[in-house]
Amino acid sequence: MSCDLLSLATPGVAKLQPYHPGKPTEELERELGIKNIVKLASNENPVGASPKVIQKLASFNDYARYPDGNGFRLKQVLREFYSVQENQITLGNGSNDILELVARAFANPGDEIVFSEHAFAVYPLATLAVGATPVIVKAKDWGHDLDAMLAAITEKTSVIFIANPNNPTGTWLDNEALKNFIAAVPEHVIVVLDEAYYEYRAMAEDTVDALQWLEDSPNLLISRTFSKAYGLAALRVGYSFSHPDVANILNRVRQPFNVNTPALLAAEVAIQDQEHIKASVIVNQSGMDYFTKVFDSMGLHYIPSRGNFISVDLQQDGLALYDALLQEGVIVRPVANYGMPEHLRISIGTEEENHRFVKALTKVLA
Ligand SMILES: *Cc1c(COP(=O)(O)O)cnc(C)c1O
Repeated sequence: MSCDLLSLATPGVAKLQPYHPGKPTEELERELGIKNIVKLASNENPVGASPKVIQKLASFNDYARYPDGNGFRLKQVLREFYSVQENQITLGNGSNDILELVARAFANPGDEIVFSEHAFAVYPLATLAVGATPVIVKAKDWGHDLDAMLAAITEKTSVIFIANPNNPTGTWLDNEALKNFIAAVPEHVIVVLDEAYYEYRAMAEDTVDALQWLEDSPNLLISRTFSKAYGLAALRVGYSFSHPDVANILNRVRQPFNVNTPALLAAEVAIQDQEHIKASVIVNQSGMDYFTKVFDSMGLHYIPSRGNFISVDLQQDGLALYDALLQEGVIVRPVANYGMPEHLRISIGTEEENHRFVKALTKVLA
């Protein structure tokens, strides 16, 4: 006898569309039989990890032991670097893990979770997985419409996800507006401020650190990651700062060893190499300047971005162009699943990678 196993999934999981990661370079090399593929699809740091991290992990061999489940040393480093208390920190298997932990710990089935149109793909996934209802607020100029998000809060809202800057649009929020928004959200709603691209934005003169709002907003959680500017995406390590009670709750639902030992070691070393972050941010800025100049000269509209990526409006089917670029050995990210069928999101690469992309784009548009 066979039964419909798919129908056994919970209703939320049944509705869920799996996350589509960027195509791995190796896979494309196998498929097309070409070498030298440029991947500008997953907002990775093209410079790579700090050489200090690579050196540290080269001598790691303690594979038989479980990791430190409390991440003591990494928390010490984070505590000092950001001037927070240790009990405000939660470590995650990537910041993705933290986003899911928040949904799991705070949203009951039937609760509402509010986020913006064109926002990060993990928000609907985390929402549906726990049987909560996504409340998707219309975007304004591709960015979050904070007034509309505030208006979308009901008695049933348990979590709000805000990405600043947002992926895939790169849009960022005005400090004052964001501060006022967080202050206005009722305390029964957990506000997740997802700052995966914090390091890129932190260099901008007008940036204030959201950490200072934690004191007045016990329902605020700020998540950050080592996957983007720190160049450690392979290791999966992220963290959040929140009220100690929120951290305590997340700690109850996380896996006991959710961050592995090489990841803990790497993150500890990485945060102490801020020169590497500065250099990476400079590479990003010059790549961003180059892309915007090229797009301007080609008459293409793009969404101004404070991340390490830029979404450009090609005014034609983005998926077809994505395929054409693949044939040229360049992987970018189609964003039709974000409600942006005519845009492509391009991660900023090294100078050489950026040139390769522009050459390929020029060819496929011709
Ligand atoms: C990349 C990204 C993350 C998560 O990355 P992790 O590798 O899980 O830390 C979270 N939020 C946004 C907006 C992102 O773009």
